[in-house]
Order: sequence, then structure tokens, then C-alpha cells
Amino acid sequence: MKKLALYWQILIAFALAIVFGLFFKEYINYVAWMGTLFLKGLKMIIIPLILSSIISGIANIGDAKNLGRLGVKTMLYYITTSTLALLTGLILVNIFKPGVGADLGFVQEVQGLAVAKESFGATLLNIVPENVFRAMVENKMLSVIFFAIMFGFFITKITPKYRTTLSDFFNAIFEVMMKLTLFIIKFTPFGIFGIVAKQVAENDNLPELLSRLGLYMFVVLLALAIHAFVVLPILVKWFGKSNPIKHLKAMRLPLITAFSTSSSSATLPLTMDAVENNSGVSNTVTSFTLPLGATVNMDGTALYELVATMFIAQAYGVDLSIGQQIIVVITGLLASIGAAGIPMAGLVMISVILSAVGLPLEGIGLILAVDRILDMFRTAVNVWSDSCGAVIIAKSEGEELKV
Ligand code: ASP
Repeated sequence: MKKLALYWQILIAFALAIVFGLFFKEYINYVAWMGTLFLKGLKMIIIPLILSSIISGIANIGDAKNLGRLGVKTMLYYITTSTLALLTGLILVNIFKPGVGADLGFVQEVQGLAVAKESFGATLLNIVPENVFRAMVENKMLSVIFFAIMFGFFITKITPKYRTTLSDFFNAIFEVMMKLTLFIIKFTPFGIFGIVAKQVAENDNLPELLSRLGLYMFVVLLALAIHAFVVLPILVKWFGKSNPIKHLKAMRLPLITAFSTSSSSATLPLTMDAVENNSGVSNTVTSFTLPLGATVNMDGTALYELVATMFIAQAYGVDLSIGQQIIVVITGLLASIGAAGIPMAGLVMISVILSAVGLPLEGIGLILAVDRILDMFRTAVNVWSDSCGAVIIAKSEGEELKV
């Protein structure tokens, strides 16, 4: 009941924020700070939450056989769903061809993009941190997750006396972090009001943008919708033997937060809370799959990158062969794995795909204007897919769920 009330508060905050952003632009600074503060609060808890949840989760799993099985299932799910998302995007972009005849006068300069890209091999190597504390300070999620998994695993290998002490210690920290999360969640309506009002206020040529890039946006949104409302629910139903609609309802709060913040990482605390407490997935599966999913599993981003690349190719009049399209699919998958769970990370990764198939990086200028809007939708799909994965994996481990 309390959760439902919060959901309505958020929807109302959302609607009010749009009105405020449109009509009270000059007063935006009076409310924008609420969004900043809310995001800071969420970011503040990410590292301790991930550390304590993964370490306690893994220490509780116990033996290496179970851990390996969970790991293999999780990776299999990530790769399967991201590939399905990419294929959906590929089919739609070939049917609608949104880029053919698109106005290239629209191309803007993009600075600093070449610097931001990193090869996939380098991403893999960087998972092992040189200094784990620096990794935490710099928010290198994959490194922090890697360290936490190793630490949790070796807790299970030490003498029982210390093992109990350490598991108790991390379980206790994790409980505190969950309580703190719930406390921050209470402020979601204010946070979302601040974030959304600011975004609306800063986008003054919205209608013009929407009409010029309309078909491109339509294809991205349609493909995202098919993936989120058809493909993933079917997987939840068939493989997860659960009710996707009930699960969707359980996930309302994290999804609307993902939508407003455009950040899977910032949404993570809420995702973990909803999957565990509303959908009834065990803490072990939640804390293993979700932190990993927030950084690695990005179906929405993969799909978006593919459609964007194809759109740019079409706009430049380049006909990509089947072989090149396959390269786009594969690099799209890798780029989505490499993208961080923060706003506009997917945009940066497109440069990797563009260089892989030899398209000009300036093409990004074409899609820059509407990236922020599409980011909201793809982030919600990313979080939704993570949560569906948690449900399917929990079911396959024989858990009883609430959905
Ligand atoms: N904003 C997305 C996320 O956090 C990543 C992206 O830019 O596609 O999931």
C-alpha cells in the first residue's frame, strides 16, 4: 500500500515537473537542486551497497559449483537477450530505413569522442584493478564487482571461525545499506521533480527536433517497445514460469526512476529493493545478477546503438553489406557491455561501432540532439531486462517467487 502511494506521488511529480519546466523556466534553479541532491544520494550508496551485497551474497552461496552455475546462467541470459534486442532493431531499421534522405546539414561537431573510446580487449584487461581503492574512488564498477566477487568467494575458503565473523559483518553492512536505500527512496518524488523539470526547461526546440528526427526516433522506440513488452515478457513467462505483468507492476518504481535519471547504475539500489522485496527473488540471486547487470547487460543500449549506426550509414548513403551488418551487431553487443550505466554512455560507444565499419565519426552529430530523450527509454529497458533476468535465474534455481 505504501509503495503504491509512492508510485502515484512520483507520477504526479513527473506531470508537475513537465508543467514547471515548460512555463516557469526562469525559476528552474529553485527546483533543480532537488534532482542533484537525489542523484547524489543514490550515487553515495552505490559502492558500499554493491560491495556489501555481492560479498555477502557470494559468501552465502557457499561453494564454487553453485557460483559457477549462477555465473554461466547469468552470462547466457545477458548475451541472449542483448542479441535478441539487436536483431529486433536490425529488422526494423531495414524495414523503415529512417536515415535514407535524412538532412545532413544537421550534422554538428562532436568533440572529444575519439578519446573516450576504448577497445573491447582493453575493457576486459581493465576489469582487474591495479588498486581497488582507486577503482572505488573512480567508480570503476566492473573492477569493484570483480574484487567483491573474489573477496566473497575466498571468504568461503577460510576457517569457519573467521568465515562466520566476516559473513556476519558483511550481512550486517548490507542490511544497513538496504535501510539507507529505503530512506533515500522516500525522496524520489522530489528528486524526479527536480530532474525532469530541468530537462524540460533546457530543451527549447523540442518540437522542431522531434519532427526532423521523427522516423528515427519512432524506429528506436518501436524496437524498444517490442523488446520490452513482447520479447522479455515471453522469456519471463516461458523460462521464468512467472507472471510478467505482476513483475512489471513490482518494478514500477525503479523503471520510472531509470527513465527519469537515464542511469542504470544510479537506479541500482531501487532495482535491488524491488526485485527482492516486491518480486520475491532471493538476496543471493539479486545481489549476484543485478549489480553485474547494471553495468554489463544493456539490451536497450545495444538496440539503440545498432539503429543509430544504421541510421547514420543510411544518411551518408552507405549501403552496409550483410557482413558489415553482422559486424555492427557484434560490436553493438560488445559496446553495450562496455558502456557504463550513466547518462549518454551509449552515445559515446557508438563511435566504436562507427570506426569498426568505417563510417565518419561526425555522423554522431546527426543523432546527438535526440540522444538524451532516447536515453531515458533505453535505460528503462536496460533495467527491465536486468530484473527479468533475476526472475528467470531465480526460478531456474528453484526459488518460490511472488510474481
Ligand atoms: N544511460 C544508459 C544506462 O545507464 C546507458 C546508455 O547511455 O545507453 O543504462
